[in-house]
Amino acid sequence: MKNLATAVLLLCHPLLFAQRPAPVTETARRYVDTLAAPGMHGRGYVNGGDSLAADWLAAQYDRIGLEKPGEQRFQRFSFPVNTFPDSVKVRIGGSDLRPGLDFITDPASGSDEGRFRIVHLTPEDLSAERKASTWAALEGGIALLHFPATKNRDSTALFTKLAEEVAQHAPVLRQGGATLTWSVALEALPHAVIELREGVMADSATVAVIEVKNVLLPKHDARNVLGVVRSKKRKAPWVLVTAHYDHLGQMGPDALFPGANDNASGTAMLLCLAERFKAHPAKVNLLFISFAGEEAGLLGSSFCAAHPPVDLKQVKLLVNLDLNGTGDDGITVVNAVEQKAVFDKLVAINKRSKDLPQVKPRGPACNSDHCPFAQLGVPAIFIYTMGGVSFYHDVQDRAETLPLTKFDGLYRTLTTLLQSLK
Ligand SMILES: [Zn+2]
Repeated sequence: MKNLATAVLLLCHPLLFAQRPAPVTETARRYVDTLAAPGMHGRGYVNGGDSLAADWLAAQYDRIGLEKPGEQRFQRFSFPVNTFPDSVKVRIGGSDLRPGLDFITDPASGSDEGRFRIVHLTPEDLSAERKASTWAALEGGIALLHFPATKNRDSTALFTKLAEEVAQHAPVLRQGGATLTWSVALEALPHAVIELREGVMADSATVAVIEVKNVLLPKHDARNVLGVVRSKKRKAPWVLVTAHYDHLGQMGPDALFPGANDNASGTAMLLCLAERFKAHPAKVNLLFISFAGEEAGLLGSSFCAAHPPVDLKQVKLLVNLDLNGTGDDGITVVNAVEQKAVFDKLVAINKRSKDLPQVKPRGPACNSDHCPFAQLGVPAIFIYTMGGVSFYHDVQDRAETLPLTKFDGLYRTLTTLLQSLK
């Protein structure tokens, strides 16, 4: 009987299933699936997606048993944001284009509806001496911009300015690349601006039928979600673990931006670390912050840095997690030079564990939520994974295709790092 029980136990033991992912990856998978599900509306500004995600996160923080700093689970702030709650339609040359795949609205697009004659415009048409006649020619039309492809920053800035100027007078079509990446805008132009995927527009097309309706929310309420695991030591310093949970939301009911890698993955990592350190507290006090408004311009982290829940002078380190869903090529550490001791520690941890193919240094970059804190002198690093799928700010950044290749390895690396801090 005893032997039989042992045999059954052995057969059921997870180690016998070599392909079975590590338990922490399974947990993370559930978090990513939930955060990137259609019911979260891309954690943006249509159907209150970001607010649904904030409530779900607060429930997770409660379940894990994270304390509320100053009795507050949320840190509230607000900002204006441009949204597209209704169906967005574009029909060119007799065929309906697929929202999110064949076209996107400019995040700052205004509204337009109707059948428009296509008017081809080059930068020369927008020169000072020709502008007046161009505006006259655009009457009742939609501008199709023929701006030369460029990577030059000044030219890009000039073309953006010209496109915005055209959108003061008429709706605009502009050519995008092979994949379309969306974003968030805090203001709206007077006319619709539509970006087309490379190759979807036939040269012979003369008419575009569009239906674009934006709604500018003048004061959108957003919430950072905060939770604490205290050290057993009195007077321990603070370490902040941060990850933004917001994403881009939806462009109408047909184009959902799930944001699985960006940043359901980092949010899942934050939750897994919170669970780990609630069970085994670190030598430092840990403050976990899920930021809102990152995609709208680091708004949640900027607000938090300006209204810090703990004295920033007591913060020993901030570890920001964004895009943690791959790892086939290892991780990059932003601010590696500025925080050399922490970077060297990560390299040493990985040298022993070999959990990650590479721990790569990168200089400062204001590309995620560590930045507003680093600018105030808080020691801060930002870790993202490299390799694997490269969907970014598009409708393809889905849970189903997110590999979480080195999630477990990164989790162990971060656990070792946080454990070592005192
Ligand atoms: Zn992100």
